[in-house]
Amino acid sequence: MANKYKVLVVEDERNILDFVTALLEAGEYQVLTAGSCSSGEMMFSSHQPDLVVLDLGLPDKDGIALLQFIRKSSTAPVIVLSARAGESDKVEALDNGANDYVTKPFSSAEFMARVRSALRNARRFSNQSGTDGKFTLAGLTINYDSRRVFIDGSEIKLTQTEYNIVALLSQHCGKVMTYSAIISAIWGFSDYGSKKKLQVNMANIRKKFGVIPGKESYIINELGVGYRMNEDAE
Ligand code: CA
Repeated sequence: MANKYKVLVVEDERNILDFVTALLEAGEYQVLTAGSCSSGEMMFSSHQPDLVVLDLGLPDKDGIALLQFIRKSSTAPVIVLSARAGESDKVEALDNGANDYVTKPFSSAEFMARVRSALRNARRFSNQSGTDGKFTLAGLTINYDSRRVFIDGSEIKLTQTEYNIVALLSQHCGKVMTYSAIISAIWGFSDYGSKKKLQVNMANIRKKFGVIPGKESYIINELGVGYRMNEDAE
């Protein structure tokens, strides 16, 4: 059955545009394309796509400009395509509201998994109003009202700061949260020692959560970028 999702792909390299378009069409997505920031803005405004796949290196402006344009009016998920190997681009894109990034060259399986995940998250958060103040993911349960965390029914004793970090990641489940986004949400400011403080807290959280060999963990360390609550945890 055809799904109804509209995906806008903004990319100026013809072979990548064709590749991504073919993948999405094979997955029965409706594909719209643009080759520059300005045509991307127009396409976004007139079609209100459910998802945007955005190249950063565009001929007229940086893709970040289009991302900022989209975020003024919309929470539609944006997956950034980055040819740049450096972490700073990914961090900049995430801090400007991108949901995820894929580094070129990428495999079709990886790309489609990111697309499905971004759309799933968008749905989850739009359905979230009026729920019972709980978050569940496989064996993990977070009760936001009592600020308690359980794994497979056993309570995990977290410090206030550790709880705040876990709750924050869960509220953005599936999305990579950059170090600076987490730090400013938890401590309200960023200083020289903040990243170290975050890493220490995170190491404690991961220890308390435990690692089960062969199973995906609940929190993934995105090296050099930040952390993600893993919605594929099992
Ligand atoms: Ca490009």
